[in-house]
Amino acid sequence: MPLLANRSVIAALWTALAAALAVLGVALAAFWRGPGLPRAASLVISVLVLCIAGALAYAIARERTVNTRVRHLQDVEHDLRASEAKFAGILDIAADAIITVDAAQRIVHFNKGAERIFAYTASEVIGRSLEMLIPWRYRLAHDGHMKAFAAGPYASRRMGERREIFGLRRGDVEFPAEASISKLSTPAGWLFTVVLRDITDRVRIEREQRFLAAAGEQIAGSLDYEATVRAAANLAVPEMADACVLDLLDGDQLTRRVVSTDGPECVRESLAVLAEAGPVGPDSPSRVIDVLRTRQPELVSVVTDEWLEAHTDDRPNVAAAWRALGARSLMIVPLLARERAFGTLTLLAVTRDRRYEMADLVFAEELARRSALALENARLYHAARTATRARDEVLGVVSHDLQNPLSAIVMGASVLTEQPPADPDGRRQLLRMISESAAWMQRLIRDLLDMSAIEAGRLSIERRPEQAHAIVASAVRMLESAVAERAVALEISVPNDLPLIDVDAARIEQVLVNLLGNAIKFTASGGRIAVRASAGPSAVEVSVADCGIGIPLEEQAHVFERYYRARHATRRRGAGLGLAIAKGIIDQHGGRIWVESTVGEGSVFTFTLPLAQPPAASVR
Ligand code: ADP
Repeated sequence: MPLLANRSVIAALWTALAAALAVLGVALAAFWRGPGLPRAASLVISVLVLCIAGALAYAIARERTVNTRVRHLQDVEHDLRASEAKFAGILDIAADAIITVDAAQRIVHFNKGAERIFAYTASEVIGRSLEMLIPWRYRLAHDGHMKAFAAGPYASRRMGERREIFGLRRGDVEFPAEASISKLSTPAGWLFTVVLRDITDRVRIEREQRFLAAAGEQIAGSLDYEATVRAAANLAVPEMADACVLDLLDGDQLTRRVVSTDGPECVRESLAVLAEAGPVGPDSPSRVIDVLRTRQPELVSVVTDEWLEAHTDDRPNVAAAWRALGARSLMIVPLLARERAFGTLTLLAVTRDRRYEMADLVFAEELARRSALALENARLYHAARTATRARDEVLGVVSHDLQNPLSAIVMGASVLTEQPPADPDGRRQLLRMISESAAWMQRLIRDLLDMSAIEAGRLSIERRPEQAHAIVASAVRMLESAVAERAVALEISVPNDLPLIDVDAARIEQVLVNLLGNAIKFTASGGRIAVRASAGPSAVEVSVADCGIGIPLEEQAHVFERYYRARHATRRRGAGLGLAIAKGIIDQHGGRIWVESTVGEGSVFTFTLPLAQPPAASVR
């Protein structure tokens, strides 16, 4: 622009000069018309000056025209540049790769999208053959397609209409793509432009959706809990993982299920060791424990030796198995049901070409959600069936248990009415049988009511500071006649000076009567039963030990379940409620109850009771 401005100023000056010369020419003509010069000479001079002025005016007019043209050309050039820049900008901001090749398939344009998708810069590929961006196995076919397209009637078409197409980015990494091609005839020959989109994400999402739909069907196929557990552990293998470890909480206990692919022998061996080693403990450095606690998933894209060392527990065989497994990448996702983590799913990548990223974690969480739902459904179904079975069983037990004393009462009453024994002792015996049977029925009904109160969380306890020895003495008094009848020796060792306990005395007495009743029931005549109590830092521990038949190890975990009657005890009287009620009462007090037993040697039932708070120090 400054150049044009200067030219305008100069043109104005020249115009002024031409005008001045024209005026001068006219003035001279007038001046020289006088006597000094011949008329012809003055005419010649005037004409000359006017000619010079005219020439100047013409030159100025030409200059003006040239100026205008230059300006016009500059405007056109500017517009062209702007348009090119706009076009290049549009090509560059396009997310798709836009690649132009000449008739020999040499790359002549490579936009920013292409740089991003193929991981090459434009300067690295311009002038090189398009083949470098096509996987080897497609190159020959691609060449044929290009030739056919060049010779064909269409100016553009979609590529890969009949099959998937793939691109090849730097590092020989293939990716699925979607592309279209167009051709343009130019004075320099044909130009072909390919617009290509990387559809890795879309293909992955479609595959994942298909997989999830199939997985959903597979896992919801059965309501059987064990079958669902197996299905959950198998789901991700081999689609998503080379191996899968499923840890499930069963109460407070973790149980572990491991599934491997038909991967190499060493992988299977390591997994077998991990399965056999059993679940990780609550204090283990395993991330499974953290995931259970925090309910947040864990992604370890690259499993390093340091990571393994930091998160594997010290059991030597476990550490060795993890090292031998050679997991390269892993994800641990929680299995959640109603805001509670009841297990984890660990997906392991053992082969080199699998490495988990954030997108995989999102997918694994989705898979875990479906697995959790199916597992929870199966668990609830199992629980509902167990409850129904238990209810049927209890109806059977209760009707059977009520039947016997009721028959005794009916029989005793009818004898007393119809043919009362002549001697008073015979009558007393019948009356005692009636009253004992009634008491038994009363106890059974009370137990049933207590059990349903415990299950509904409505068992009321009224706690007060109490003395352990007084409660024990009262319970023992209630069983004096049974002890004497069975002829067992009862040894009480409960010091008088134990700290006060914060309990509902009647309920603890109920627990003790139950434990002592069982001890008497399962101990042969002449046997010994001991009740002991001692004080700990925050609780008093009470135990009832007998030298009776004992409880097999596999049944010990079940004796506190309601309506449970051990196999060896089924012929004895009892609805299998006593220990469940005892546990409910002790739980309600914030204590703990457990059993240690050896078959043939006897059983020790122990429970803890909280100490009463020491009176607060008075403020002076
Ligand atoms: P019940 O009220 O029928 O006695 P419990 O809940 O008290 O039921 O006990 C459940 C089961 O535990 C009993 O059937 C018995 O098999 C076993 N059991 C309880 N106490 C003892 C013991 N001291 N010795 C051996 N087995 C016992």
